[in-house]
Amino acid sequence: MEEQGQRVIRRMTKQRRVILDTLRATNNHPTADGVYHAVRKKIPDISLGTIYRNLRLLTEQGEIQELNWGSTYSRFDGYPEDHYHFNCEQCGQVRDVHMPLQVQLEKQVESGQDWEVRGHRLEFFGLCPRCRQNQKAGGEG
Ligand code: ZN
Ligand code: MN
Repeated sequence: MEEQGQRVIRRMTKQRRVILDTLRATNNHPTADGVYHAVRKKIPDISLGTIYRNLRLLTEQGEIQELNWGSTYSRFDGYPEDHYHFNCEQCGQVRDVHMPLQVQLEKQVESGQDWEVRGHRLEFFGLCPRCRQNQKAGGEG
């Protein structure tokens, strides 16, 4: 029987390492296609299928996270720790929100209920600075 907490060491292929490094080096939460275009600068002959397969593996291994709620295609985040995001409704960009996890929300949901809350998702949406600017300019013209 495997000892609990034992770390499973997995060999990471060069391709997977480059994909992980590419994701960790950006904060713009690219789609699989975006990862593909960025990784091709380092590995020109890599296929989109290899990108998808490795993104799935990295997600399963907890190295990255897939952001796929409320949108038609997934974005990928090189930081697997829980954190919040802001989505621009106009241009679709996704940015990190630097704010502590609101764990008291989980206590509020549990209080008076028979639920065991194990986590939560919270998403912010609206307009990014550039889209706000564009909207103002459009309104005046
Ligand atoms: Zn925007
Ligand atoms: Mn993020």
